[in-house]
Order: sequence, then C-alpha cells, then structure tokens
Amino acid sequence: MILFYSVMSLFISFTLHADTIEIPSFSKGSVGKHAAYFRERDGKLSLTEARQQFQTTELSLGSSNSISLGIGVDPVWMSVKVNNVANTSQDYRLSVETPWIDYIDTWLIKDGQVIKHIAGGDAFSFDTRPMQYRFYAFEHAYLPGVTDIIMRVETKGPMALPVQFNSVENAINRDIVSGYQYGALYGIMVALALYNIVLFVFIRQREYGLYGLYLLGFVLNSLSYTGQLHTIITYDFGPYFQDWLDIFLMITYSVAGLHFARSLLHTKEYAPRLDKFVLRTTLYIPLGMLIGFVFNQLFFSMVLAFILNTCFVMLFIAMGVKALQAQKPFAVLFILSSVTAAVCITISTLAVAGVLVPYNDYTFKAIEVGMAFEAILLASILARQFRIAQIDKLIAEKYARTDPLTELNNRRGFKVLTELTWPNIVDTQRNISVALIDIDFFKKVNDEYGHSKGDEVLKKVAKAIAETSREGDISARWGGEEFIVFLPDTTRDGAIMHAERIREAIEAISFTGIDCELMLTASIGVAGSVAARFEDESINHDTLEVMIKNADRALYIAKQDGKNQVRVVS
Ligand code: GH3
Ligand code: MG
Ligand code: MG
Repeated sequence: MILFYSVMSLFISFTLHADTIEIPSFSKGSVGKHAAYFRERDGKLSLTEARQQFQTTELSLGSSNSISLGIGVDPVWMSVKVNNVANTSQDYRLSVETPWIDYIDTWLIKDGQVIKHIAGGDAFSFDTRPMQYRFYAFEHAYLPGVTDIIMRVETKGPMALPVQFNSVENAINRDIVSGYQYGALYGIMVALALYNIVLFVFIRQREYGLYGLYLLGFVLNSLSYTGQLHTIITYDFGPYFQDWLDIFLMITYSVAGLHFARSLLHTKEYAPRLDKFVLRTTLYIPLGMLIGFVFNQLFFSMVLAFILNTCFVMLFIAMGVKALQAQKPFAVLFILSSVTAAVCITISTLAVAGVLVPYNDYTFKAIEVGMAFEAILLASILARQFRIAQIDKLIAEKYARTDPLTELNNRRGFKVLTELTWPNIVDTQRNISVALIDIDFFKKVNDEYGHSKGDEVLKKVAKAIAETSREGDISARWGGEEFIVFLPDTTRDGAIMHAERIREAIEAISFTGIDCELMLTASIGVAGSVAARFEDESINHDTLEVMIKNADRALYIAKQDGKNQVRVVS
C-alpha cells in the first residue's frame, strides 16, 4: 500500500517556497513542505558537489508532508533549514518514517562547516544504525541560529520520504501513542485471526482458515512495512530483505483475502468468469513475483505486488457487487466492509501524497483502522453464517425424522425418540405398551375418491391419533396407512383402553364433502407389559421389538375378526 502512496504522489506537484523551520515553535512534525530537493541523475555526487548543486540547479520544493517519487528512482538530495530562535540549544529528533530505505546520509552544517554526518538505512545492520529504532533517526542538540540539514537518500524500493522533525519529548510521546494504537489494532486482528484458525481446525470449513490467514498476513505485512518486525528479527539481512519481505507479505495476504472472499461468497456458482479471473490473478501474479525474486528483479516484483494490491481492493468490491446481484446473503455487509477498507486505504494514500487529506498519525494509520473494521464486519458475517448453518442442520434433522404428509414422526423419528427414553425405562422397569393402528378398507378410499382424498384421510387420522395422545406418548406413521403409538407408564390393560379411545376418535372423524359419504374405521393391535411381572419378564433391550411384533399379530387378529376393533395378544 505504501507503494500506492508513492505512485499517487508522482502526479502531484505544486510550487511552494521552502520555508525555514523555526524551533522551538515548530510542532507540525512533517518537514516535507519545508524541503528542497533534486535527483542525482549523473552518478554519485560528493557532499561538496551536492551543496553546489543546491545553489545552481533548479530545485523541486516539497509540496506535501511526504515527498514521494515512486519506485526505482535515482537517489535524492534534500535540504532543510532549521533556525533555532531561542538562546539555548534545542534537542530534536529527525526520522525518516519509511523503514525500507537502503541508504540515508545526513549532514548537519553550521556556519558553513559540517558538524555531523549520520549514516543509516536498512543496508546497515541494526546495531550500527544511528538509533536502535525501527526508522532511520537521530537526535541532535541544535544550537541557536541556522543549521542546514542536507540528506542523501538512496533506495531500490519506493522513494517515499515522510521526514519527521520533533522535539525529543514529542517524538517519545508519538512513539508511545503509536505503540498503543498499533497494539489495539493488531490486537483486534490477531485475536480474530487466531479464533478463526481454531474454528477452522475444528470444523474444517475453508473460509475460517483463509480468513485467519488473511488477517495474520495483513498484520505481518503492516508490522513489516512499518519497520516493527525488523527491530525484532530481521535487522541484518541486508538492504533488500525488507523490500522482498514487504512484497511477499503483501502478496500473501492479498491472495488469502481473495480466496477467502471466493469461498465466503461462493462466487464460482453465479459469477464463474469473475471467479476464474480472481483465481488466475492469485496464481500468475505471485508466480511472476517469484520469477522476479529468482532473477533478483526487485522493481518488477514490486510493480506486480502493487498491481495485485490495487486489484485486491477492486476485486473485493466487484465480488461483493456480484453477490448482491445474485441476492446472496451477507452481500451488503461484505460490500460495506470492503468499501470501508478501500476508503481508509484511500485516506492514507491521499494523506501521504498530501492531497485533500492532512497527513498525520491518524490518517497514516487509516489503513489499519479500515482493516480492523473490515475484520470485525467479516467476522460478524462468519458468525451469522455459522448460526445459519446450525439452524439448517437442526431443520434438516427434523425433516429426516418427520413424515411430510402427516407431520407425525416417521419410523426413523420413532426409533430415535424411543431409544432416547429406553435406558430410563429399563433402569426403572416402568410399564410400557404399544398400539399398532391400521385403517380399514383404505384401498377403497383411494379407489373411490382418489389418491388426494386418501392423503386427506391420512392427515385427519394422524391428527386424531395425536390429539388422543398424552404427553410422553410417541406416535408415528409406521408406513402406508399404518400408525404406531408408544405408551410409556401404561400397562397392557391401560393400553387397551387408550386404543379404544383412538378407535372411537377415528370413527368419529367426519368427512362431509360434496359427493362423499365416507365412514372410516381402524383396527388396532395392542401389546404391553402387565403390572405384576416375574423376574424373567423384566423389560430389557429387546422388549420393544418383541412388543411391536405382538401388536402386529394382534392387529392381524383384529382384521380377521371383522375389523374396527382392538385386539391384544398375551
Ligand atoms: P385392510 O382393511 O385390510 O387394512 O385393507 P386396506 O385397503 O386398508 O389395506 P391395504 O394394505 O390393502 O392397502 C393400503 C393402501 O394404502 C394401499 C396404498 O395405495 C395406500 N396408501 C399407502 N400409502 C399411501 C399414501 O401416502 N397416500 C394414499 N392416498 N394412499 C396410500
Ligand atoms: Mg388397511
Ligand atoms: Mg395395510
């Protein structure tokens, strides 16, 4: 993203006079607008030659808080005048807040004499830098009067020079505030990342893993391009390590982010061309970057990373819009989050470029704020998706256990529910009974009134059975026009009485319709335990199955004996 700044500000050039910085009143921090500079086009200059050029060549004046000249440009010489109007010396810190600059030399000149030369940049190992700090920085006690600061900056990466000049006290405060700000933003993102990675490990759904990677990648990238990572682990890997690591991390999180979006929005289903484009982008650009790495083409790889980074934001929005058109859930939230991120990125970009938005610590960190906001919105999408999946699962389970016509349990539902209560029944040796109900002459209903009338009859019978049942009874459609009722805490005699009630209820159903005079009856077979049981008659694992078989035999007898009656076998 820093690359984005640099390229943006290439197009901006105003002419302002480079003013002298007056201390101790100067409190703005940024010195961009107080600097004059030129590019070293024909070979390396000595300080003397450069000082001459500052008198003779046409200089550019800094027009924004950060002088940004693009990628792979010639070294830059920059001059700033500091006038200490107080009569005591003033301690100030100068820092260049881009950590990837390879070589930075600063000379302090007082009354025409060089009084100090400070060399640094990430080409220097950490312990040889002027300050053990994530940026090139040095502190100096500026004597009363004018001090000339002349800098030479050389880098293969983006030439973005947000030079800060603060009293040492302010500089330290800025660092503390900055530490808290980064801590909060990274904290949010790392916590979300870890949480989603843990979710991924347990539920194995791609989008959680990709989202975690995306966030971690972004935090690492931010840690890297703000120089924080390098103060901890990467301080002496040479001048180009930082540039390559930035490119690598930028590409990693962009790729993870794009794949996350594909997976979350199921882009492939309704926008196959966009999906393919995203897929190819995430394949060819990293491949190009790797080739650039193998052949040590930093500039080439950096341009690719810049393209991917820009594409990344636009593709996110494009995918959101496609999802919205396809009326996918979460599309609006997704667009909101990606547009917010894009707006924040633009704010930082414009701020560093010095256009429209003032450059300060907040606008500079808008990227991280935007990303943290996006992270929270995306997390809420994932959470809602999780909830919906859970509800879907419950619904699917219920459907699998329910007969769609009568809305009673089906055989599977009956089995699940009776198995749930079974251990308790065996433990406490409670009485149980079952009743099997079969509609009489049901075939005739179908034949005479049609299949849909038959369905209506089945529904009404199911309703009558359900209404006759007590709490704790488990009724189900056993098949065709056969129903079953499981009666806990009911002896065989009790079950006969209950079955009789069901039979009467079915008989009482009225089917008064046009040309329809239907008299409906049912036969019922009952089996059950008796109150006084012997040891060997105890209720065990197989009891229910045996009972259902007996009830079936009883039902057969009821049919044989003329139907419309309750029978029991002992
Ligand atoms: P019985 O008195 O001996 O029980 O004779 P029946 O006609 O009731 O029994 P049979 O088993 O001969 O016929 C049952 C009929 O139930 C046959 C089948 O077409 C019908 N049937 C099964 N399931 C459905 C259904 O879901 N809807 C309708 N409308 N009919 C069904
Ligand atoms: Mg029948
Ligand atoms: Mg039958």
